[in-house]
Amino acid sequence: MLRGCIPKKLLIYGAHYADYISDARNFGWTIDAHHNWETLINNKNIELDRLHEIYKGVLKNNNVITFKGVGNIIDEHTISIGGNNITAENLLIAVGGWPSTPDIPGIENVISSNEALELKELPKTIAIVGGGYIGVEFASIFASFGVQVTLVMRGDYILRGFDSDIRKKLQNEMAKRNISIINNTVVKGIKKFNGKFKLETENTEDLVSDLVMYATGRTPNVSGLVSASLDMDKEKSGAIKVDEKFRTSIPNICAIGDVTDRIQLTPIAIQEGTSVSERLFNSNDIRVDYKNVPTAVFSSPPLAFVGLNEEQARDACGDKVDIFESEFKPLIHTISGRDERTYMKIIVDRISDKILGVHMVGIDAPEIIQGIAIAVKMGAKKRDFDSTTGIHPSSAEEFVTMKNKR
Ligand code: NDP
Repeated sequence: MLRGCIPKKLLIYGAHYADYISDARNFGWTIDAHHNWETLINNKNIELDRLHEIYKGVLKNNNVITFKGVGNIIDEHTISIGGNNITAENLLIAVGGWPSTPDIPGIENVISSNEALELKELPKTIAIVGGGYIGVEFASIFASFGVQVTLVMRGDYILRGFDSDIRKKLQNEMAKRNISIINNTVVKGIKKFNGKFKLETENTEDLVSDLVMYATGRTPNVSGLVSASLDMDKEKSGAIKVDEKFRTSIPNICAIGDVTDRIQLTPIAIQEGTSVSERLFNSNDIRVDYKNVPTAVFSSPPLAFVGLNEEQARDACGDKVDIFESEFKPLIHTISGRDERTYMKIIVDRISDKILGVHMVGIDAPEIIQGIAIAVKMGAKKRDFDSTTGIHPSSAEEFVTMKNKR
């Protein structure tokens, strides 16, 4: 929490004001605005401290004893931590992941999202390597605060694994915000150079920037965690192997969240933790459903989806897939003058009329898709969407008025 979603979202809220301020002009406002990064970071840290205290209080109120230190599981029932050996009938591993970087010369010069959340001051220019969730979100944050951002990735488009239309639309919107995107490029090394950093690449001119951030995935935090004598099964990635009840190969030791190889999202880890505690302490066998997990990228503009992307839907249903889509200028930008478009897509199984996937890039996408995810999880059909009354005027109403098939 302290290095992930919450501080990132607070920075994103801060970044949104850049849009609000410039969009306000054509609505008649005159604003002489200046941003102080230090104030934002300090206030973000104050809020994190407050949340930290709340969580500590929750543990205390529930009679949870906490030990601070680096833990090592030394046998099936024992964790060694700071000179204490703690024993329990069941152990739960929830240590998460850590930013992973490729082993290339000069990699010690780069920062990860951990340090990006704590920067004392903003650089004038930054190169971000990696076109996944973190790379895209931080590119948007830094660009909103006036940093010149270059996003370097090895693929064609950002966000591999997402719907291809959504990837292209968001990449296009990011380019409009002066984020320079360099695709199909592998970085061979990073050199320090006159107080700046030079990215050496295989196919483009070397890139020079004040700061380099790597966002090339996160790996399970397993180093030194479990004594070799325990022989706990791992996946190829190093993640701890678990079954559908989150039991490791040592059945009284469970593992949840990013230390396993399931979906790396906070709400999923919370559901997994709930599943373990309900099974162990309430004899309630709740399974986590990994289908139709909604997700969002808090870029500018944001992106969110639930269900299958078009490629997955075609793999599942062949040509019996209908695509409904809508692209428009949101009402606010008819006056603000901002050149930003919203794109929405509904993917339907033509035979059953069932909604297979819903995707959106545009203002409020995460808030809108969260509601739609309930309908999709309940097995909504396109005709259910069509018979729902829209809230007018809103962007969300497009999802219940989308009549034209591609
Ligand atoms: P992602 O897996 O999302 O993206 C990693 C990116 O780095 C990809 O573009 C990948 O390229 C690239 N990459 C991986 N290895 C290399 C390499 N050796 N050299 C160059 N590029 C490389 O990871 P993130 O770090 O962005 O985020 C980690 C996880 O955290 C995410 O999977 C997500 O689940 C979670 N997260 C969720 C958020 C949310 O819910 N809003 C926000 C932030 C994080 P390629 O595609 O070619 O493999």
